[in-house]
Amino acid sequence: MRPISRRFFLQATLGSASVGVWAACRPANTATPTPAPVPLRFAVASDGHLGEPSTPSDQYYTDLLAALTQTHQTTPLQFVVINGDLVHEGNNGLLPKAKAYLDQLPVPYYVTRGNHDRVSLDTWQQLWGYGTNHMVERDNVTLILLDTSNEAGDTLCGDDSWLRQTMKSVRSTVPAFLFMHIPFIHNAQATDICTGILGVLTDYPIIRAVFHGHDHTKDLSIMYGHTALLFDAHFGSSWGTTYRGFRLVEQSREGFSTHQYDFTDKQTINSLSF
Ligand SMILES: [Zn+2]
Repeated sequence: MRPISRRFFLQATLGSASVGVWAACRPANTATPTPAPVPLRFAVASDGHLGEPSTPSDQYYTDLLAALTQTHQTTPLQFVVINGDLVHEGNNGLLPKAKAYLDQLPVPYYVTRGNHDRVSLDTWQQLWGYGTNHMVERDNVTLILLDTSNEAGDTLCGDDSWLRQTMKSVRSTVPAFLFMHIPFIHNAQATDICTGILGVLTDYPIIRAVFHGHDHTKDLSIMYGHTALLFDAHFGSSWGTTYRGFRLVEQSREGFSTHQYDFTDKQTINSLSF
């Protein structure tokens, strides 16, 4: 975990102070007190690979549904994001089945396209009701879903022009989170980087975290500059971490806390506050 910077400390302190001022300025004797904002709490999972040969991929979906439903019953989630590779390559016909599984989640959910989800933009739009690049404005957060592949399954950086244009209209009052299946850092040496995406992250620090799937072996929670880079391993598929899991993000007094959750062994992994 990176030590809290002076800038972040000042931001957090100012944020608390402004809430106090806002509360003090509210008119007295209002009939219905404004309810306290609900702290953000959501989960991210990726890489279900429905239809992968020689795997019980349907079971992987039902396991995820059970784990997320149980988590939600203990402490409510506000939404879930499934960050790509909903199906395994060659199984585009199973995308509606993946949707039917996810429709059973007890909360709203959003999906990104992975490099195994090789359908046309029209097919994606018709199935999910939104494009492969999409912004979601919720009360307490902005979610940006960025496509990092195409119908051929290529490894792409994502459309940084669309991202930059989108960020111009994003509210400054709530945090933003970016979800892109393929990491914008393409190699372990961090020499092959999507500089266009990095430029947007640098210019828009309101993007507090970037969530990646794709590399099933990675369940990291790390800081990259001012941005948290968060990986969620996999919930399906034959390769990757020995466990299957998802990531939880919760708003805290200081900002956000996150950890990867191994729902196979019910363990918390790689916690980070940011
Ligand atoms: Zn995958």
